[in-house]
Amino acid sequence: MLDLASLTDLLTKPQKIVITTHHKPDGDAMGSSLGLYNYLIQQGHHARVIAPTDYPDFLSWLPGNENVIIYTEHREEAAALIADANLIFCLDFNALSRINDMGELVGASSAYKIMIDHHLEPADFDDYRHWDINACATAQLVYDFIVNELHHKELVNKDVATCLYTGIMTDSASFRLPNTTSAVHRIVADLIDAGAVNWRIHELVYNSASENRLRFLGHCLANCLEVLPEFNTAIIAVSKQDLERFDVETGDTEGVVNYALSMASIRLAAFIVERSDRVKLSLRSKGEFPANEICKKYFNGGGHRNAAGGHSEHSLEEVITQFKQILPEYKKLLIQ
Ligand code: 5GP
Ligand code: MN
Repeated sequence: MLDLASLTDLLTKPQKIVITTHHKPDGDAMGSSLGLYNYLIQQGHHARVIAPTDYPDFLSWLPGNENVIIYTEHREEAAALIADANLIFCLDFNALSRINDMGELVGASSAYKIMIDHHLEPADFDDYRHWDINACATAQLVYDFIVNELHHKELVNKDVATCLYTGIMTDSASFRLPNTTSAVHRIVADLIDAGAVNWRIHELVYNSASENRLRFLGHCLANCLEVLPEFNTAIIAVSKQDLERFDVETGDTEGVVNYALSMASIRLAAFIVERSDRVKLSLRSKGEFPANEICKKYFNGGGHRNAAGGHSEHSLEEVITQFKQILPEYKKLLIQ
């Protein structure tokens, strides 16, 4: 175990630091990781961000992105950095299984592990924890860690602020989810004051689609959407053939599920996609409905109450059928 005083003391001298985050990183995963990276390098630390897998192109403009190592593409280099690190920051995930086979390397490393995260029920693999499920994003917790635990508000420069703003913006669904409190808005205001250009970040993340992505979205809504009014639920199911037809790339499926949730009556939306190795589910819900419970109980996953995910080894059709069979169990919550 490591207490804050010892961690603060360690960070006064240059350390060999790895920052990692969950597989298929999203805006919060990369925003929080690169926000912390841009903070640490100002103090002379040897820091590297290692992403377990690739991530969407709409995140590749983030400051520091050019120094990120993608584990699946540079396994040996990543393994050497992990083995050599004194500190490993684990951001936006709560169990080593979320970083795929990198989990074994991180688990075996003698480095201190520092978890900064906002997911329920964290596993016990860390030495220091800055964890709060009420945070709207891990990037919010990184800001809190830098400003209120390490007392380095002056080191929140434009690059740090830009990355953390991106994390908060994407994980709060553009400041819309219930956990976007006034405290979050105050942090966001600080980040803008520190140099984050909010409108530009919005453009780079949300107005960067390819023509294929837009046509794929049209296909999802016109041909793959099923509405189940008796359960206030909508499903968008996409086959491997659909992905091939529209040449869908990493990131192109991001956010599609939110369109299903945008109908007034819908309380639960599911995006079910047939990937090459397994079927992946993304659930979104409104209000109190626990999307994460369904993912945890039935689909080897988890997440937050309003945004959760999981996967299945069954066929796409079987997963759709199973999902529909689960709904009666939640009917009361869905129709209230
Ligand atoms: P998405 O639907 O965007 O893939 O994931 C939404 C949220 O659900 C993520 O932020 C993450 O917290 C959670 N999540 C997604 N997939 C999984 C999974 O396979 N396992 C767990 N434990 N959580 C997941
Ligand atoms: Mn997050």
